[in-house]
Amino acid sequence: MKVLLNAGPWLPVPPHGYGGIENIVATLVPELRRLGVEVVLATVGDSELPVDEKIAAFPSGKFELLQRPYNQVCGVVPAHQLAVTRRLAEGDIDLLHDHVEAAGLMTAAALGPAAPPALHTLHWDLKKHPELYGAFDGGGRVVVNGVSADQLTHAPAALRAHAIGHVHLATPLAVDPPVTGKQGYAVVLGRINAGKGQDLAARLAHEYGFDLVLAGPVGPYHDADALAAADPQNPDVAFWREHVAPHVDGDRVRWVGTVVGPARDDLLASARVSLFPLRWNEPGGTAIVESLALGTPVVGISRGCLPELIEHGRTGLHTTDERELGELVLKAGRIEPAECQAEAARRFTPAVMAAGYLELYERLLSLTVRIDADAQSATV
Ligand code: UDP
Repeated sequence: MKVLLNAGPWLPVPPHGYGGIENIVATLVPELRRLGVEVVLATVGDSELPVDEKIAAFPSGKFELLQRPYNQVCGVVPAHQLAVTRRLAEGDIDLLHDHVEAAGLMTAAALGPAAPPALHTLHWDLKKHPELYGAFDGGGRVVVNGVSADQLTHAPAALRAHAIGHVHLATPLAVDPPVTGKQGYAVVLGRINAGKGQDLAARLAHEYGFDLVLAGPVGPYHDADALAAADPQNPDVAFWREHVAPHVDGDRVRWVGTVVGPARDDLLASARVSLFPLRWNEPGGTAIVESLALGTPVVGISRGCLPELIEHGRTGLHTTDERELGELVLKAGRIEPAECQAEAARRFTPAVMAAGYLELYERLLSLTVRIDADAQSATV
């Protein structure tokens, strides 16, 4: 099977720092190749992931343009998608596995019956892009998958009609976690914004008397110097300034900016508990899975993918009631780190994720073979 995997024009694969989708692609591809899938990767020129073939419209990632006004950057994705379309037109690709937000889904559908079948992975909150998702028609050749079951339940009906299942996210840490000792603090790892709820975590740290480390960017700003000169109109910056910063005293509650690579693993593995005070339906929860893999129990709000990933009382504690969250942080000591790691090794390894995608590829291929056969018998 020859698959064109479209990782988009924003960052190399693997990314050098932040990069959720590019990380997942970097985790998936080696396992697919081990399973005998030939991978053509659509990415940027400086991607270093070994693949069977690489195509790129740009020598390096265009991520720094992402925050600019639309009319300045709207050529980036089309230029990348044109390279993808031209490669598909060569006729030797069996299946397109697409990860490009909105435009990837549109391109796959617009290519029509001559193009290979396409699986588009929805990495996003599906309340986004109602103009596209609300009336989507994939013509029988384009299907979507979620990164959790919960995510798909919130999809518009037209998009849900194209869903062929979900595949949970995975992390290489589930196979080979570093060994680290525990310290007393709780951590929130993720982009700092209202949906991720760092303000609630910070208030609870003061109220219940536990140490809290916040790690992650505020909008595009990765450290205190960048944040000091930030655009105050940015909604994440406004959220930080109004709701989080007043609780960050550098002692009980600290912000350490974006932490990547082994430092991130060490920060998460050494924490006593990993907090997810969610106010949105977290679609896939990479950081939740990473936390388990590193033996750090998860405490959070029962919404989005969290209850699918975390078994209450065994690998973490969760509640629908924000007021109960502080109590749960104090009770998290009853969760065994080894149990969390065993769960990650069973459910969230790269091999498990790749087997999930291979199953979806095979289902999509048999689905489209049936459509072709039906079309042929209708013309005879
Ligand atoms: N992350 C990181 N450093 C940080 C904050 C986050 O490396 O300071 C990583 C985190 O480990 C995870 C990803 O960014 O791999 C965030 O993915 P998740 O699905 O948790 O949230 P998203 O940002 O996609 O909503």
